[in-house]
Amino acid sequence: MACTRLDAAWEVLRQVPDPEIPVLTLVDLGIVRDLLETAGGLEVVLTPTYSGCPATEAIQDDVRRALERFGEIQIRLQRAPAWTTEWISEEGRRKLNAYGIAPPGPVNAVTPHFPACPRCGSRQAEKLSAFGSTACKSMYRCRGCSEPFDYFKPL
Ligand SMILES: [Zn+2]
Repeated sequence: MACTRLDAAWEVLRQVPDPEIPVLTLVDLGIVRDLLETAGGLEVVLTPTYSGCPATEAIQDDVRRALERFGEIQIRLQRAPAWTTEWISEEGRRKLNAYGIAPPGPVNAVTPHFPACPRCGSRQAEKLSAFGSTACKSMYRCRGCSEPFDYFKPL
């Protein structure tokens, strides 16, 4: 198996956790758009999850630190097209669910999407609050097992 510098850099990037939801990596979240070789190092193209999100700074620092052995790291923020929860990988959705956060439903759902309880899978949940532990989540309580859970809002 050929292992190029880019492959090696992707391997490292795949280990970098998201500062807000550490159970997910930046690659799981789908915010790493591209990775390119430059004369002196690498260029990383990132699409921030939410514009003005304070985590964006932390993410750039984490990426620079993780990749510093590859030389000079340039980061380009690409804001169009905007990030959407549709970019969260299947692996990322599984991790969210295992962590107790219901993964986001379809962005343009025709009918209201009822998140499945991460613990028992029941779709009989009531919304407790529009905002959960962070603004990107809302809080539900499962009517099956009575446990509250966060739902990652589609965006
Ligand atoms: Zn439940």
